[in-house]
Amino acid sequence: MQEQAVRLLTNLLGIYSPSGKEGDIANFLAEEMKKLGFQVGTDALGNVIGVVGEGEPTIFLCGHMDTVAGHLPLRVEEDKIFARGAVDAKGPLAAMVMAAAEVAKEHTFKGKVLLASVVEEEATSRGVRHMITQGIHSDYAIFGEPSGVQNVTVGYKGQIQLRIVCKTETGHASTPWLYDNALEKAYELWEQIKNASSYPSLDPSANPYNAVTACLVKIVGGRATSVVPFEAEMNLDVRVPIQFSTAQVFEQIEKIISKYQAANLKVSVKATVLDTVEPFEVNKASPLVHVLSSSVRKVLNKPATLLHKTGTGDMNILGKAMNLPIVTYGPGDSHLDHTLDEHIVISEYLASIQVYKETLMKLAELHSRNEFRNES
Ligand SMILES: [Zn+2]
Repeated sequence: MQEQAVRLLTNLLGIYSPSGKEGDIANFLAEEMKKLGFQVGTDALGNVIGVVGEGEPTIFLCGHMDTVAGHLPLRVEEDKIFARGAVDAKGPLAAMVMAAAEVAKEHTFKGKVLLASVVEEEATSRGVRHMITQGIHSDYAIFGEPSGVQNVTVGYKGQIQLRIVCKTETGHASTPWLYDNALEKAYELWEQIKNASSYPSLDPSANPYNAVTACLVKIVGGRATSVVPFEAEMNLDVRVPIQFSTAQVFEQIEKIISKYQAANLKVSVKATVLDTVEPFEVNKASPLVHVLSSSVRKVLNKPATLLHKTGTGDMNILGKAMNLPIVTYGPGDSHLDHTLDEHIVISEYLASIQVYKETLMKLAELHSRNEFRNES
């Protein structure tokens, strides 16, 4: 099994699959899953959906096959595999596929595993949103994202993607004192948003999980030499802690903008929310968190740690849309996500397959004994 598991992962990592270009990896994965005993289909968006086993409960395993852009060639060094997506999130995805295939072979396993490998998690989350609108029928859900083999992710922050456009009157660049420079004005506004004290901003000594943070991710403007820039556009990525909704945080940002606008009457400012994802925390008392934590302990002989993360995941979207026990778990160090050093340790990957397997077996067993009734 181990050799097969490593082969599956290296093959997936050998196919470059940035968001929006998942066709090749989807075809490959669908074929591999068929060989492993899944019934496999692909939906209208290109999500690969496989089923093994039958009966109750249904356990939904969800991973993503896209990565951020930026090819990192595959290379194996000792017990590490380096490649784009090794951690985020082909390692967790391959581990879930292997675990589900293995579990389905056990005749003591009563239940069904619904495994989705979705598109565009790193971009628009279109993949998982589409699945939700089509209806997902399951009793439990596990998202395959790197938490580290010993940890279970139980909380993610929310996110606001914001575009702000500043416009000013222009003139000749040789007389800059006569005009407002839109680029400078936009940056000035950005600094006020960043430093605002009207919501808990990021004090490095505080727990970043509980703070609103903002990152200037893009700023463009200006047309030519000799012209004072009259339009600047910036994009902000704002992360929202569990104690707020994205609407509440946006309201605070709008107040800062209004104040800025009142002090800069010649500058026009327009803010547009491009996308929001609400923060989400799982019910830590859920049977799923219980079973997963005890599976970690059983496989690793160490207690599991529950993690709250500053990132945002597809779990937020499904967790808000459906009321079911849900959690995020997977091998890999998420600090390596999107970096040039992205790699996964093979032994950790293999151990996570055992944790997933143990979790699937135990969940199905306890569910069939009805031990979870009214507990979710
Ligand atoms: Zn991911």
